[in-house]
Amino acid sequence: MDFELSDEAKEAIVKAKEFARKHFTEEVAERSDREEQFPTDIVAISKREKILDFSNPWKVLVTIEELVRRDPGLGISVTISAFGSEIFMLFGNDSQKEKYMNPVFAGQKTLGLGVTEPGGGSDVANIKTEAKQDGDSYILNGGKMFISNGQIADYFLVLARTSPPPSPEKKHRGLSVFVVDAKSPGFAVNKLHGKLGVRATNTAELIFNNVRVPKENLVGEEGKGFYYIMTFFNISRIYVAAQGLGIAHGALDRLVEYSKKYGEMSETGELKENLQLAIAEIATRVEAARNLTYKAASYLFKFTPNPVVTSMSKYYAADTAVFSTRRAMELMSLHGLTTDLERFFRDAKILDIWEGTTEVEKLIITRMMLKEEGA
Ligand SMILES: Cc1cc2nc3c(=O)[nH]c(=O)nc-3n(C[C@H](O)[C@H](O)[C@H](O)COP(=O)(O)OP(=O)(O)OC[C@H]3O[C@@H](n4cnc5c(N)ncnc54)[C@H](O)[C@@H]3O)c2cc1C
Repeated sequence: MDFELSDEAKEAIVKAKEFARKHFTEEVAERSDREEQFPTDIVAISKREKILDFSNPWKVLVTIEELVRRDPGLGISVTISAFGSEIFMLFGNDSQKEKYMNPVFAGQKTLGLGVTEPGGGSDVANIKTEAKQDGDSYILNGGKMFISNGQIADYFLVLARTSPPPSPEKKHRGLSVFVVDAKSPGFAVNKLHGKLGVRATNTAELIFNNVRVPKENLVGEEGKGFYYIMTFFNISRIYVAAQGLGIAHGALDRLVEYSKKYGEMSETGELKENLQLAIAEIATRVEAARNLTYKAASYLFKFTPNPVVTSMSKYYAADTAVFSTRRAMELMSLHGLTTDLERFFRDAKILDIWEGTTEVEKLIITRMMLKEEGA
C-alpha cells in the first residue's frame, strides 16, 4: 500500500502549519482552555481562508493532524464544524444536501450530531429520545448529552426512536435520523462546563420538548438510523485517529525541544539516555499510528472501508496520544506540568472516549475478526 501523500495534501499541511503558527498563539490557546471559550474569531477566519477543503478527504485528514499538533482544543474547534455531514452525503436526498450540507461545506453554517444520551453512549441502540409521527411532521421529545457544537450549531442530525424495538435483542431497529433546526420551538441547549480536556470546544446538552420537525427532515429511510450512525462512525473514527496523531506528534515536538534546551549531560554534551530512549519510543509509536491511520484512510477514501482497520487506527492513535503525552510529561517533570504539554495531556484522554471508547473499538476488532474467520 502506497502512503505517499499527494502534492495537494502536502500543500494542505504547509497551509495548516502556517495558519496554526499565526492564530494558535499560546495566549489564545491557554485562555480558551482556562475559560472554556470557543475560538469564534479563529474559526471564522479558518472558514474564510478555506482551511478545510471538503472536496479532498486526504487534505481534511492531514489538516486535522497538523492543526491539532499545534493545539488540540483550537485545532478540533476549527475542524469540527461539519461534524456529521457524511450522513447527508451518504443518505440525505438532494434537497437536504442543498439546504443543509452545502452551506456547512461552504463555511456558512455549523452542524452538530446528537446521538449520545445518559443511558445510550456506547450502547447507542439504548437511546430514549422519541420521534412520533403527527400528520406531516414528527414530534421529538427527549435529550442528548455531550454534544459538540451544542451552542453554536445551526442544525443537528439527531437519532431518535420512531418505533418500538421488535425484541430486546433487536433494539437497534426502529431508530431514525432527523435534521433539527436549532431555532425550532421547544429546542433548548445547556452548555456543559468542567470538561477534562478539549475545553475550547463547545459541548452541550440538547433538550427536545415537543419539537416539531417536518417530515422532509427525516434523513434516509425511517428505521435505518442505527445503520447510518454506525456507517458514519466508521468514517469519523479515522478523523479522530488523525487528532490522536496530532496530539502525539505535538508531545514529541515538545519533548525534543525540551531535550535540546535542557537535556544535555554536562560531562559529554550528549543527550541524557532516558530522553534518547523516550524520543525513540514515542517517534516509533507515532509512525506506527500514522501508518495504521493512513491505511484505514486509504481503504475508506477508495470507497472500500475496512471497519477492523478503522477501529484499530482509532484505538491505537488515541492510545498513542495518551501514552506520548504521559511519557513526555514524566520526562519533562515540572517543565511539563507548567507548559502547554499539561493541556495536551488532558486533551489526549478525550480521544479515548469519544466516537467509540477504546474498549468498544477493541470489541469491534475482535468481533469482526471472529466473524470473518467464521465466514
Ligand atoms: C468532549 C466530548 C464531546 C462529545 N461529542 C459528542 C457529539 O458531538 N455527539 C454525540 O452524540 N456524542 C458525543 N460525545 C459522547 C461520546 O461519544 C460518548 O461519551 C462515548 O460514546 C461513550 O459513551 P458514555 O460516555 O455514555 O460511556 P459508557 O458507554 O457509559 O461507557 C462507560 C465505560 O464502560 C465501558 N464500556 C461500555 N460498554 C462496554 C462493553 N460492552 N464492554 C466493555 N466495556 C464497555 C466504556 O469503554 C467506558 O469505559 C462526546 C463526548 C465527549 C467527552
